[in-house]
Amino acid sequence: MGEREFDVVVIGAGPAGEVCAGRLGEAGLEVAVVESHLIGGECSFYACMPSKAMLRPGELLTEARRIPGVAEAVTGDLDAGAILRRRDEIIHDLDDSSQVPWLEQRNVTVFRSAGRLDGEKRVVAGDDTLIARKAVVVATGSSPLIPPIDGLREADPWTNREATTAKEVPARLAILGGGVVGVEMAQAYGSLGSRVTLIERGDRLIAREEPFASDDVEQSLREKGVDVMLGTAATSVRAEGGEVTLELDQGGPVHADELLVAIGRKLNSDDIGVDSVGLEPGKPIEVDDGMRAKSSDWLYAIGDVNGRALLTHMGKYQARIAADVILGHRAGCLPTNGVGARSPRVIFTDPHVAAVGYTLDAAQQDGLNVRAVDVPTQGNAGASFYGRDDARGTARLVVDDDRAIIVGATFTGPEIAEFLQAATIAVVGEVPLDRLFHAVPAFPTRSEIWLYLLEALGIAGPCGGPQRA
Ligand SMILES: Cc1cc2nc3c(=O)[nH]c(=O)nc-3n(C[C@H](O)[C@H](O)[C@H](O)COP(=O)(O)OP(=O)(O)OC[C@H]3O[C@@H](n4cnc5c(N)ncnc54)[C@H](O)[C@@H]3O)c2cc1C
Repeated sequence: MGEREFDVVVIGAGPAGEVCAGRLGEAGLEVAVVESHLIGGECSFYACMPSKAMLRPGELLTEARRIPGVAEAVTGDLDAGAILRRRDEIIHDLDDSSQVPWLEQRNVTVFRSAGRLDGEKRVVAGDDTLIARKAVVVATGSSPLIPPIDGLREADPWTNREATTAKEVPARLAILGGGVVGVEMAQAYGSLGSRVTLIERGDRLIAREEPFASDDVEQSLREKGVDVMLGTAATSVRAEGGEVTLELDQGGPVHADELLVAIGRKLNSDDIGVDSVGLEPGKPIEVDDGMRAKSSDWLYAIGDVNGRALLTHMGKYQARIAADVILGHRAGCLPTNGVGARSPRVIFTDPHVAAVGYTLDAAQQDGLNVRAVDVPTQGNAGASFYGRDDARGTARLVVDDDRAIIVGATFTGPEIAEFLQAATIAVVGEVPLDRLFHAVPAFPTRSEIWLYLLEALGIAGPCGGPQRA
């Protein structure tokens, strides 16, 4: 009760806030973290973790069915009840008590309430006013965006929260939005037994990725029985007698038992008192490369709320940067590649889509002198053990010819999420192309794809030997 002083006050204990608070506490600062819901944030309970728990069993079954000798051993369908129970274990039945000791061990004081900025270096948390000697870090994340479609709010649609914690699988699920959340949930619920209709206004799914990634995911969803409607917008929604009906601008109507809205996120800066420090509520809190809010020497914003990259790993990376800067280490240490929209990213559909850096189109729009090479993901010996011809995909490198480095990579294929880190190292480290021939992939791993990509680029051999045509 009353006023309490800390070195740093962090608002929001999602992945970004948690990591920042822990790192500062570890360094010996007195740190408070204010959390209004669950320590661990959206990612641990309603996003990354439960969604992957719901996707992985279907992925595994599909892969097993591709392998002769294993396919015969796999009979029957997924046990949706068991999968949801395992999901509940992974999200600890929405109990965050296992996450608290990590903070306590680092001497971070946890306040369980909504936090609001109240002028310079002041945060109100319930009955307490927390005074920050050095810094306030905003890490309040993002929430689902509900578009102003007639009748939609009244229909009480699912957001990611309901979709990732549902106890039962609806017989018919309609999904609005063909971005990452939409395609992942379409696949997850399809594999668990729902008849899924995926409605996307644009002309392709996951539109920020390479067009071949959109095509691969669309084809796979269709093959799995998802009704994919592109170039289609919902015009009104009606819920009646346990059924949701969507009227569309073309085709339809679509009838479903549940409707999931997955059209994007709004940043949680609208109700946290940013106006008391001269910022506009509802807008991303813009930051410099040290994660400091523009024109402030004490306010930081990390994770989704700064709008740079709505990904857990990037929020945690920003948390480390902010902590370093608060501790007096170098500011402005961001690399030029592999951040913001070019961050490493994985979509856990079948096929996976794993990408880092530029797509070809985005690089060209930024005026880079680039070219792309593509090879089939399944085109090497290692792929033989992954269902080979039934497990298609594409690997693309986008190469900056002026600097002879890779500025973008996209892989599609089954279980290729783990491919991404090698590409991220090449892109962020700006590894010269002729050096890459010396990073020899082991045989027979699927990573030999790198040899094929380099050869497709026409790069000389390891000793500068003749280029391949
Ligand atoms: C379905 C889905 C799947 C996803 N899958 C992935 C994935 O596989 N990989 C990936 O990298 N990203 C994924 N994401 C994105 C990822 O969840 C977010 O980027 C990440 O959670 C952002 O972390 P954060 O710490 O910025 O915010 P959040 O995780 O949103 O945490 C913010 C915290 O702040 C708290 N808070 C908010 N306002 C206040 C306040 N006023 N006072 C106190 N506390 C407050 C909230 O309760 C919350 O705990 C997914 C998102 C969704 C929706």
